[in-house]
Amino acid sequence: MKFNIITIFPDLFSSTFSYGIIKHAVDNGLLEINIHDLRKWTCDRHKQVDDRSFGGGPGMILKPEPLFEAVESIKLKDEVTDSLQKRDKQNRTKEHGHVILLSPQGKTFNQQKAEELSKIDNIILICGRYEGVDQRVIENIVDEEISIGRYVLSGGEIPAMVVIDAVSRLIQGVIKNEDFNANESFSDPKDRDKLDFPQYTRPADYKGMKVPEVLLSGDHKKIETWRRNVDK
Ligand code: SAM
Repeated sequence: MKFNIITIFPDLFSSTFSYGIIKHAVDNGLLEINIHDLRKWTCDRHKQVDDRSFGGGPGMILKPEPLFEAVESIKLKDEVTDSLQKRDKQNRTKEHGHVILLSPQGKTFNQQKAEELSKIDNIILICGRYEGVDQRVIENIVDEEISIGRYVLSGGEIPAMVVIDAVSRLIQGVIKNEDFNANESFSDPKDRDKLDFPQYTRPADYKGMKVPEVLLSGDHKKIETWRRNVDK
């Protein structure tokens, strides 16, 4: 699976993707993450990506031209790579990139959406900044807007990291034992509110704080029942 991220702060991503499961997935070729500096698609001396809002108001808006150019160029590059590799078109859910804008106005992200996105093999994420992006971008090149919650952040970079992290865990092979994902919170399709059960590790008694007896019993049926019914 491939993620292309369009941002004005590419350096923000380096530490997030350099550790743990995501790094492992990239190193093993299960995941490709390309980070693109939006300023690459500007034509002026100052590499300006923003401008004032028509009609007035505080704050700046991300200009349409660099965003249109960026998405077009990323899609074109993938088209060339795909045709060179003669990839099977039918295996691609959406050709050359499903475009997502991170935005407070988007649909709220959840585990079900993460599962849906994990089936798409090429996703382009646009990280907004300032007061947001020119509406023509949203209407013409964005396939969907995603919010990570009902609050306002300074940019779409942290939301993009959240989406990539949640989706990557669901790509086949990224998490070795698939049972992990099946038992995670929000992952039961029949009960999306179901949460993970409490977990304990050694020591069984830490300064008088004891691990529930049943977990030490070795009786898997009883443990299963306790985990299903435990009051969190
Ligand atoms: N003017 C916008 C509003 O009131 O809805 C807020 C813009 S915010 C300061 C700048 C950028 O951060 C947005 O364009 C978006 O890309 C990102 N952003 C902020 N909050 C977000 C959220 N909850 N979910 C996803 N993206 C968010």
